[in-house]
Amino acid sequence: IWKELQDSYKKEMNPVSYNTWIEPAMPLSFQNNELIIEVPTAVQKNYWEKNLAGKILETFFMMSGEEILPVFVTPDEADIYKKRVAKQNRDLAATNESNASMLNPKYTFDTFVIGKGNQMAHAAALVVAEDPGSIYNPLFFYGGVGLGKTHLMHAIGHQMLVKRPHAKIKYVSSENFTNDFINSIQKNKMEEFRNEYRTVDLLLVDDIQFLVNKEGTQEEFFNTFEELYRNNKQIVLTSDRLPNEIPTLPQRLVSRFAWGLSVDITPPDLETRTAILRKKAEAENLEIPDDTLSYIAGQIDSNIRELEGALVRVQAFATIQSADITTSLAAEALKALQASETLRQVSVLDIQEEVANYYHIQIKDLKGKKRVKSIVVPRQIAMYLSREMTDNSLPKIGAEFGGKDHTTVIHAHEKIQQLLKNDPIIQNEISEIKGLLLR
Ligand code: ADP
Ligand code: MG
Repeated sequence: IWKELQDSYKKEMNPVSYNTWIEPAMPLSFQNNELIIEVPTAVQKNYWEKNLAGKILETFFMMSGEEILPVFVTPDEADIYKKRVAKQNRDLAATNESNASMLNPKYTFDTFVIGKGNQMAHAAALVVAEDPGSIYNPLFFYGGVGLGKTHLMHAIGHQMLVKRPHAKIKYVSSENFTNDFINSIQKNKMEEFRNEYRTVDLLLVDDIQFLVNKEGTQEEFFNTFEELYRNNKQIVLTSDRLPNEIPTLPQRLVSRFAWGLSVDITPPDLETRTAILRKKAEAENLEIPDDTLSYIAGQIDSNIRELEGALVRVQAFATIQSADITTSLAAEALKALQASETLRQVSVLDIQEEVANYYHIQIKDLKGKKRVKSIVVPRQIAMYLSREMTDNSLPKIGAEFGGKDHTTVIHAHEKIQQLLKNDPIIQNEISEIKGLLLR
């Protein structure tokens, strides 16, 4: 992608500026949507940030649909970044190795903020961590996405290890449980599987709503459950809803879950959201004024994962602009976020309308089969944009274009991608149409 980006700058700039600004810049790493680019001097860094960064964002977005954040560094700063990346990689390797139980080191009780929506769940989690297998077994958390179910589950694991460092803990998503099980059947390794799952002191099964009955997975899960329960081993489960509301779950599992305690987690109120942000900011050593924290918390009221995302974004924005984090900076950072939200809401029909308008043709031509160039190219562009800007599957897009095969959509997409590389007119037209769609 970098090469293509260079090419597109080349087309727009005179050779001297190209050689001064673009040529010497070098991408270093790409992690967590952050693209680190090394430039030789502070002057160049400044120029990139002011004049060239926008295009990078655009190009990446067009090609991958991902929003990225370009960060420019001078060679001195690049050293720091390189070291940081190396350290991250080492840390990652270390945790993967030592933590066979797969607990996320960040998900502890210490980092968990208690509020109205989760205090019951938190209290139950503490009890279970202190006294596993006795009172609330199984413990069942349910609630919407990103509200802290997985976090609490891991926290139980960590806390249990404090008192009993040799306890055997197993954390799996229900999908991994299923895959593990099916693999063991296929490889004739059922004994190992049972050894793994039935000898634990604490079994954490996440997102149980995805436990489907492939090859008798539910039967195996049921038996695992029975065995652990009988031996007073603690089981903790999560789901997005109550057990009896999960249509794929067999009644006997539902009734087993009723032996324990089910607690729901509801979305945090403004105060809790602010407290969560404050805690994250402290953990990352960020200086953020209180009113800015509550501003961000006021903007994002759905779930905590998005709240964290917003904070990361604000932080990144401040880094790029070498500015302090203030409420107005946060507003600016989050405005872009909202713009990209709307981007995802563009529909195939919107695209067809805009493209038909733009090229002065009829929507029915876009959906039809005419092979004249004045229609074929707009049709391909509309398909291309439908694939890039909406979440629809290829067959769905094909269907919306008068019932065409998904291979036609793939072909159109490739064709336009090709054109985008070396046809400035098409480049321009497509970015104009995009602009119109995002108005
Ligand atoms: P769920 O499993 O319910 O979808 P997660 O446990 O993955 O949600 O939480 C999403 C993110 O929000 C995680 O990064 C988690 O650390 C954070 N989080 C959730 N609840 C809290 C809380 N009460 N305090 C601090 N961070 C939280
Ligand atoms: Mg989860």
